[in-house]
Amino acid sequence: EGSRPVTGIDDLPVRDELRGKSPYGAPQLDVPVRLNTNENPYPLPDPLVERIAERVREAARDLNRYPDRDAVQLRTELAGYLTRTGGHHVGIENVWAANGSNEVIQQLLQTFGGPGRSAIGFEPSYSMHALIARGTGTGWISGPRSADFTIDVEASVKAIAENRPDVVFITTPNNPTGSAVPPETVLALYEAAQAAKPSMVVVDEAYIEFSHGKSLLPLLEGRPNLVISRTMSKAFGAAGLRLGYMAAAPAVVDAVQLVRLPYHLSAVTQATALAALEHTDTLLGYVEQLKDERDRLVTELRAAGYEVTDSDANFVQFGRFEGEGAAHAVWQKILDRGVLVRDNGVPGWLRVSTGTPDENDAFLDAVRAIKKERN
Ligand code: PMP
Repeated sequence: EGSRPVTGIDDLPVRDELRGKSPYGAPQLDVPVRLNTNENPYPLPDPLVERIAERVREAARDLNRYPDRDAVQLRTELAGYLTRTGGHHVGIENVWAANGSNEVIQQLLQTFGGPGRSAIGFEPSYSMHALIARGTGTGWISGPRSADFTIDVEASVKAIAENRPDVVFITTPNNPTGSAVPPETVLALYEAAQAAKPSMVVVDEAYIEFSHGKSLLPLLEGRPNLVISRTMSKAFGAAGLRLGYMAAAPAVVDAVQLVRLPYHLSAVTQATALAALEHTDTLLGYVEQLKDERDRLVTELRAAGYEVTDSDANFVQFGRFEGEGAAHAVWQKILDRGVLVRDNGVPGWLRVSTGTPDENDAFLDAVRAIKKERN
């Protein structure tokens, strides 16, 4: 018995809460047009590629040493970027960075969640909030959302009051649905969270640069339990870099250092991120083009007879596909035409990331053709 071969996860003494669960798994398929993971479709411009090579070459010489544990230069530059674009002064003491905003979220849950504690999100929303909660032993509460995918303030305030979560996630613009959350809603949920516990409120602004509206950074003023998380994966077109960051009160930045692994941000990562930040203006120029293309996708999908949720992000939620498995069947038909979109499991809806104009045309041709078949 003792020598029975291990055949799968469930044969191992894994933690109970991980049994029978699947890892995060957006398919990485080799198809001509990939519009499924909300990446920026534009490769980095050559001058930036050169600058990264230069900065990494410099960093390489010192790879015998551990990197700057506190990422001082990088956090200073990120604070500068937030101050310039966010309508609120942010200093290095307000900023923390990690390997993708997923790691920022993990560190926040390790610090403020954990066994015996809970976090709430208003679903459908970014699925990793729940998965990272599970990974950190934090209980997960699935909060409500209206049929039109907006946050129902009354129902959400009630859910917070009843469950008294330790961490509240608000994703704006929301993924996978696309719409931004009004500041009044965030304020109402923050007040409810403080009255109930008090708890930390994490506003996930991964897509904020694509929004018609503004960042909620100014709300940090006088709200010590508010955190705004950001990423270079989307607007900076650097998903492969793995650089996320957050802005919060200095005490929050101190607190996450209790759980971060020493030297978690490699010298190569810090050098690359600094190079990308030098090219902020060029990269934000791409964002403007992508916003125009995003708006075109919304308009053209509606013209083709699809329902579309208003989008403030670099992706668009479209439907509505009635009946069990209908959305997935359409997902497959789009894939058969060489375009990979995302089935997030929201019944009746699919999500498409904004690509280059040619990629978007390929997608629009596919969905128009499918619509004709269905009629
Ligand atoms: N938050 C949201 C809402 C996201 O959609 C994503 C990526 N899909 C992330 C955070 C994580 O991004 P990263 O770890 O690349 O910063």
